[in-house]
Amino acid sequence: MAQADCVFCKIVAGQIPSAKVYEDDACIAFLDIGPLADAHLLLVPRAHYEWISDMPAEQVAAVAGRIPQLARAVMKVSRAEGFNVLQNNGKASGQAVPHVHFHIIPRREGDGLGYRWNAGRYPAGKLEELQQAVLRALA
Ligand code: AMP
Ligand code: ZN
Repeated sequence: MAQADCVFCKIVAGQIPSAKVYEDDACIAFLDIGPLADAHLLLVPRAHYEWISDMPAEQVAAVAGRIPQLARAVMKVSRAEGFNVLQNNGKASGQAVPHVHFHIIPRREGDGLGYRWNAGRYPAGKLEELQQAVLRALA
């Protein structure tokens, strides 16, 4: 169901313009208007879901299955050296538009985009404890 106040639902419905590069029954892709690099794309399911964890797995597969093809095009156009696929869920993660989307962001050595990756270290026993907790949550 489309959300009346959702910018990506409006783009899906053609109510506001976008620089569309791909569409099928499950998703559309268009250029991000606030690019982190040239040819930064957004891949968006047609259906409104706020978080990827709200989506049926088959719908995630239908949308995410387009990533390789779109990423190859982005790499070709941007002549980048690599790319990030970024998918934010929730305000705390940096999600500004609450409609699921995958960023495909071209990257180059020294582009300064960076990512704070403050890797920690588990105290003794914590890793096993968390493994059991996740296993229980999955059961
Ligand atoms: P996020 O922080 O993961 O929610 O990213 C939302 C992204 O959507 C940002 O990179 C915005 O630049 C982009 N964006 C917001 N509105 C539009 C729009 N109308 N057309 C294209 N991109 C948009
Ligand atoms: Zn929406």
